Amino acid sequence: MTVSGTTFVYEALPGRVVFGTGAARGALAAEIEGLGARRALLISTETEAALADELAAPLGDRVVDRFTGVRPHVPVPVAEAARRQASECGADVLLSVGGGSTTGTAKAVALTSGLPIVAVPTTYAGSEVTPVWGLTENGEKVNGTDRVVLPRVVIYDPELTYSLPVGLSTVSGLNAMAHCVEAFWAPGRSPIASLMAAEGIGALVRGLRMLAGAASDGAPLAVARSELLYGAYLSGTAFATTGSGLHHKICHALGGLFNLPHAETHAVVLPYVLAFNEPALAAPVVESLARAFESASPLAGLLGFERGLEVPRSLAALGMPEAGIEQAAAVVVTRVPADNPRSVEPKDLVALLRRAWEGVDPAV
Ligand code: NAD
Repeated sequence: MTVSGTTFVYEALPGRVVFGTGAARGALAAEIEGLGARRALLISTETEAALADELAAPLGDRVVDRFTGVRPHVPVPVAEAARRQASECGADVLLSVGGGSTTGTAKAVALTSGLPIVAVPTTYAGSEVTPVWGLTENGEKVNGTDRVVLPRVVIYDPELTYSLPVGLSTVSGLNAMAHCVEAFWAPGRSPIASLMAAEGIGALVRGLRMLAGAASDGAPLAVARSELLYGAYLSGTAFATTGSGLHHKICHALGGLFNLPHAETHAVVLPYVLAFNEPALAAPVVESLARAFESASPLAGLLGFERGLEVPRSLAALGMPEAGIEQAAAVVVTRVPADNPRSVEPKDLVALLRRAWEGVDPAV
């Protein structure tokens, strides 16, 4: 992409990334040792507790306690319980094994304790490479950014995602896709983040296509899972520096107001936001996005690719009430980034949300 006439600020975030099939089993102990840590609190959901234990087995008695009370969107009482446990067991490192909710719980502990995190992600949420934390209290989600919650080491092991059902993998992959696409117009956009986002789009498209057609095991699945996890890493890294644009602001508001599922909401909303913004994008941006999708236009590329996937197609199907359209538009309009490529009026948001609610063809 040409940078002539562009001004940008890019601040690279620290963090060590270890990527590879079998990496979690092979490298975890050495990575913990590399941090000089001796007392790990192992954090997971109940469901992933056996996996977490198995991965942490080489650490022996350096795992001093386990926290398995993870809940979606990190409710404050859960964060407080995990913080208490970390303090009581004298942890000097937090080892999280799981999806975005598990990483989020480790971040909540790091936020108040300053403890380092070693993250082993098992979904494509991308939270493990961002300094963004989130907590929910009385149904309200509060987010913030603090470098102290950025994991020090991330171990990406595609093998750990083999068990993620195809449906969940697809919406989680599209959540990552949303980070990539929005990186091209979010407030902190830069040519560097766009490079990662474009590479991420390619990896996610390849991975999700393979997964949609893959047998239940064997080589195609292994390749698909590697592409997807690589795409997830790139998406999170791009999102970490660009921040939230119109798409994330909409999804965040919808999640908070109507308790809609996180990844599915991203999957439904993204094409409508792209359809809205695309006419106002600069030509080099359109070219880069189109090239990433190997398509004549970004929207045609995204839609062509999504057509082959089994994903929810409307906000109505996710359980959002029709009466919520105006309510959500009123919330989002106060949060739209001032430099969205196209100005956003309340009536635009109502129209966009109605289209997404009905699930009409985003291209029409
Ligand atoms: P999640 O962590 O809630 O996991 C979803 C479900 O998948 C859970 O039931 C979990 O037990 C299961 N699961 C996880 N890994 C599995 C595996 N390998 N095999 C089988 N099942 C598995 O969901 P998520 O989509 O990973 O994360 C969503 C959360 O992450 C939201 O709260 C979102 O706000 C947050 N998030 C934060 C950031 C950030 O930068 N802070 C970025 C993206 C997402």
